[in-house]
Amino acid sequence: MAFGQPRIEYKTNSQMRIMHEAGLVLSRALDAAVAAAVPGVTTKHLDDVFAAVLNEAGAKSNFFGYHGFPATICTSVNEEVVHGIPGGRVLEDGDIISIDGGAIVNGWHSDSARTVIVGTADPEDQRLSDVTRAAMWRGIAALATGKHVGDIGAAIDDYVSSVPGKPLGILEDYVGHGIGSEMHMPPDVLNYRTSHRGPKIRPGLCLAIEPMLVRGGIETAVLEDDWTVVTTDGKRSCQWEHSVAVHEKGIWVLSAPDGGAEHLVPLGVTPVPIP
Ligand code: MG
Ligand code: MG
Repeated sequence: MAFGQPRIEYKTNSQMRIMHEAGLVLSRALDAAVAAAVPGVTTKHLDDVFAAVLNEAGAKSNFFGYHGFPATICTSVNEEVVHGIPGGRVLEDGDIISIDGGAIVNGWHSDSARTVIVGTADPEDQRLSDVTRAAMWRGIAALATGKHVGDIGAAIDDYVSSVPGKPLGILEDYVGHGIGSEMHMPPDVLNYRTSHRGPKIRPGLCLAIEPMLVRGGIETAVLEDDWTVVTTDGKRSCQWEHSVAVHEKGIWVLSAPDGGAEHLVPLGVTPVPIP
């Protein structure tokens, strides 16, 4: 259908190369924040560590000031799903925290999230994080092998339902998105299978692929701070995210230093640098 379809911004190779620069700064900032996530530190400390890397690189934060958001990362701990605000909360042994951040270089955006288990991991939390991360890579691989954006959610859904053990829930209230001259752009990138195939995958498409999985029910609520999203049943949640570019020779994960090779090659996809 031609009418009512949100307009997708298709990038040139040179624009995607700048997005790659933003992705590499972001990857380094996340490395630093992840390394700093140990028992006894505050979530505000992680924000400071992340912001320092962006500042040093001359990159801007796309989170800070976004609809008034007061920090450069979202820190979502345990039953918090997404959009947690860094502050005085002290991380404790066994906490599971997702750190979601972004960077802008010369007007082009990147967006990526990782989950860390602080100190000693509950095996079920470790499994939650491992499955969410693997689901993200299945979704990214589907961007290379699929025809439509809907193939990403189908690949994530099929993988999560195929994993043995206690079933994990895929959140439906929050989804991935297009990215480029803004952080959040069309199209939506669902993390589950639907009858809608979505727009065609073609060169210039850049997507943030970000499955969010939970150990319990998928119902969520927003806390009184108007940002922090929690699971209604209080069960723990997890998020992994990368920004990925499609170009005429293949795909390249913009927020991974190796373009995603380590995790994509075993899935039969070899990432190709942006020409
Ligand atoms: Mg994000
Ligand atoms: Mg995102």
